[in-house]
Amino acid sequence: MEHVQVAVLGGGPAGYTAALYCARAGFRTVILEKLSAGGQMATTSQIDNYPGFDEGVDGFELGMKMQAQAERFGAESFLEEVLSVDLNAVPKKIVTDSRELTADAVILATGASARKLGVADEDSLVGRGVAYCATCDGMFYKGKTVAVIGGGNTAAADALFLSRICEKVILIHRRDTLRADRVYLNPLQSCDNLEFIWNSTVDAILHEQKVTGLRLRDQFSGELQEIACDGVFVAVGQLPNTSLFEGQLKLEHGYIAADETTRTSVPGVFAVGDVRTKVLRQVITAASDGAVASHFVEEYLASL
Ligand SMILES: Cc1cc2nc3c(=O)[nH]c(=O)nc-3n(C[C@H](O)[C@H](O)[C@H](O)COP(=O)(O)OP(=O)(O)OC[C@H]3O[C@@H](n4cnc5c(N)ncnc54)[C@H](O)[C@@H]3O)c2cc1C
Repeated sequence: MEHVQVAVLGGGPAGYTAALYCARAGFRTVILEKLSAGGQMATTSQIDNYPGFDEGVDGFELGMKMQAQAERFGAESFLEEVLSVDLNAVPKKIVTDSRELTADAVILATGASARKLGVADEDSLVGRGVAYCATCDGMFYKGKTVAVIGGGNTAAADALFLSRICEKVILIHRRDTLRADRVYLNPLQSCDNLEFIWNSTVDAILHEQKVTGLRLRDQFSGELQEIACDGVFVAVGQLPNTSLFEGQLKLEHGYIAADETTRTSVPGVFAVGDVRTKVLRQVITAASDGAVASHFVEEYLASL
């Protein structure tokens, strides 16, 4: 069975940055990625908040560049899906769709996916009015009317963020009160360009080439109403890609419990990027985690 010093599971910005740093530190490093380099970032054509790109950068292109940069220092990428892992074994065991390998240290970088509304045409309208990240895409709706769907902290923070950019924000929640922390409530209530629509769910996204509005269903009466908007920000939660690791290390609300050191509850296993517990899930924080992880991987490998 093939053995490597460091196996990185997932080739998004967190995984490729971890691989870059580990390979540059002289460790034999493999990256196992099931789709293509870049992860979630590869699904957007415009990233405007990653430093160094004054005109913004295509997320797919940035993913390719991260892969090439890590490979320049000897990191080895494989297009393989990880099917199972034994993180508590020594060395750690990884089974992919095409082989088995062992590693001294494992960096978990499998990311997360936005929870969808599950209504017709939602997927095909991503980038044409449907968005899942206000920090990422809010600026595209400057001076326009947007709806935010959800009632938790993300929805509240997104609505506040968008209220500073957009002409009008409509916050739509299926209950009659927000679940968001109290810290958000006063600022939301004193926002003049924010309207709440309570007890309502999205029945349909109205569109031509782009989103033009929403059809909402009242949770009690079943009555339908249509509202006009240019964009809809879905903030109904995220699904971390952690099912492979359940029962093997500590998870918190489905995310891998890891602090700023990226160390998890299992020695030699590190979690980077969107898959770990953290406040802000962005390309820059994913990349930052990858760099930090290499420091603690080095420390761990030295201790073996
Ligand atoms: C549409 C969209 C627009 C965005 N825009 C911005 C923006 O403008 N600015 C910004 O900073 N952030 C943006 N983000 C957020 C940013 O993309 C994420 O925070 C970042 O990609 C997280 O990186 P990651 O490496 O932790 O995880 P991910 O990018 O999720 O990558 C995880 C990788 O792991 C792979 N993987 C998962 N399971 C397995 C498995 N079993 N075997 C092998 N591989 C596996 C996946 O295929 C994926 O490639 C956006 C996100 C989306 C969805």
